[in-house]
Amino acid sequence: MVLYCSDGRWNEAFDEFCHHSLMIPRYDRFALPGGPAFLTRAPTDPLLLALRPQLDYLVEHHELDRIVLITHYACGHYQQQLKAEPAACLPTQLTETVRAAELLRQWYPKHELTVEAYLAMRTDRRLSFHRLDPVAKAAAPIAAEKPASPPPAPRPVQTIPLKPKAPPVATPPKIKSPYPTTPLDWLNRLNKPRK
Ligand SMILES: [Zn+2]
Repeated sequence: MVLYCSDGRWNEAFDEFCHHSLMIPRYDRFALPGGPAFLTRAPTDPLLLALRPQLDYLVEHHELDRIVLITHYACGHYQQQLKAEPAACLPTQLTETVRAAELLRQWYPKHELTVEAYLAMRTDRRLSFHRLDPVAKAAAPIAAEKPASPPPAPRPVQTIPLKPKAPPVATPPKIKSPYPTTPLDWLNRLNKPRK
């Protein structure tokens, strides 16, 4: 399953990344504003309470074994929540996305889920995807409740050049019809004095 932000400007790139870089040809999608952000809400938060059963259903009945979380640069959800510019939102975004991956592993221990977290980044005319938690599943000693800090600047997993704007569709040259094309033309032709 891939869980990402529903922002339509990014979805094509998410698909391309999943198909060609992560090699997941088909997958369940879980898309909502802010993507994985909702997973880190308080356990009693109404949104989490409403969505958790949907998640349970997918994990249980679709027997998921891999979940990919994608957060993206300049996410409107974060900008609205934090009232901050895209770059200023990043630390919270990265921390929450990594935390969301941890939570999913905790919630479904018997499924031995592989959960991966990625940041989709945009610079100029390029999109790049960065793995956020490459060692999260390794049996690293659990730090004693250290406050989660944003991971170090991740290296891109895949870089997708933004598609240039499609060239304008060539309009076929107008062929001048030998026949009048408008009622007025017909009228003029009929009224022409015959030689
Ligand atoms: Zn978004």
